[in-house]
Amino acid sequence: MYCKNCNSSNIFKKKFNFDFYSHRDFSKIISSNTYLECRDCKIIYSMKTLFLKRLYKKIFAKKKLVTKSKDIELIPKFNDVNIYQHFFNKEIKNKNNLRILDYGNSSINQLKDYSNFFYNTKIFFYDIAISKDYLFYNKKTNTKCIITSNLKKIDQKIDIMISFNSLQYYLNYKSFFKFIKRKSYLKTKMYITTPSIDINKYFFLLGDEYLKFSKIGLINFLEKNLNKETKLLKRNYLSTVNFALVNFNKNKKLRKAKKVNKLDAIHKYLNQKSLQIKNLNLKKTFIFGTRVNSYFIAKYLSNFGGLIDDQINKTVKKYRLLDKIYDKDILIMIPYMGIKYNMIKKILIKKKFKNFFQI
Ligand SMILES: [Zn+2]
Repeated sequence: MYCKNCNSSNIFKKKFNFDFYSHRDFSKIISSNTYLECRDCKIIYSMKTLFLKRLYKKIFAKKKLVTKSKDIELIPKFNDVNIYQHFFNKEIKNKNNLRILDYGNSSINQLKDYSNFFYNTKIFFYDIAISKDYLFYNKKTNTKCIITSNLKKIDQKIDIMISFNSLQYYLNYKSFFKFIKRKSYLKTKMYITTPSIDINKYFFLLGDEYLKFSKIGLINFLEKNLNKETKLLKRNYLSTVNFALVNFNKNKKLRKAKKVNKLDAIHKYLNQKSLQIKNLNLKKTFIFGTRVNSYFIAKYLSNFGGLIDDQINKTVKKYRLLDKIYDKDILIMIPYMGIKYNMIKKILIKKKFKNFFQI
């Protein structure tokens, strides 16, 4: 067996007997999964490619333009400002005369919003699931926009490439990188985010992803496929994901490979957590959050009261809104670490809840 990314035979296989969830509504999609990890390039990928192909056919079937209010509500915010606004303000200093490509985005509202930030610019959104091109011209900023599923329509070299949270689904990533190479030139900068299994190990349980990225895995993956210098950006507005920048005017440097074995480490972590939770002997306990972390914990908790969240989450059904809970003495478990845990803690204290703990 060889690594699909770098052809190395130094490859490690591991089976995970855990429930794996959909990234959309966290419903269970499969009860075990097998992954490969390359010891040389550190890439981790699912062996269930046929299963994923079938799944993607359903998820990414051609649809009409996703539009209006729904998608804007799903855009993550930091300090009540949409993430991409922080991104434009912080990372892109010159906002004039650019060609921008957002690969894997089909939101009309976001496209229109983007066009207000730039002048004399051309903005391309590419998404596989678009059935018909959508064109938009912003008179005020003289910026032309298009949403398309036809790569031929992207007929210029691109200055700013954006790939937010989609790389992990690309079964056919080689053709993606081929296209990116064709559209890049010396001034191109590419910004990529993916879920980070370093920052949140439960992201590993998103069963519809093909690739799993640690920080070092993402850098190696990008450098191997694009041959350009890649670095990780540390930003507080994007602290829960891997955030990488590829600079097309510099070739990649040689890196010393570190010995890591993420698959074993994550498997051990999930095992220990599931045992720890099974052995808890608590009164009725609520779990904070409506994402994969909380679903994992809920499965093993014996006296589970339900999920709670401080924000409306339209993609899941069963949970209670924090503001609607009047008994401030209920027991709440928080399955998050670091910055995210501190944020939740602050919210609970502010809302006068007394009994909560981290797991
Ligand atoms: Zn490899």
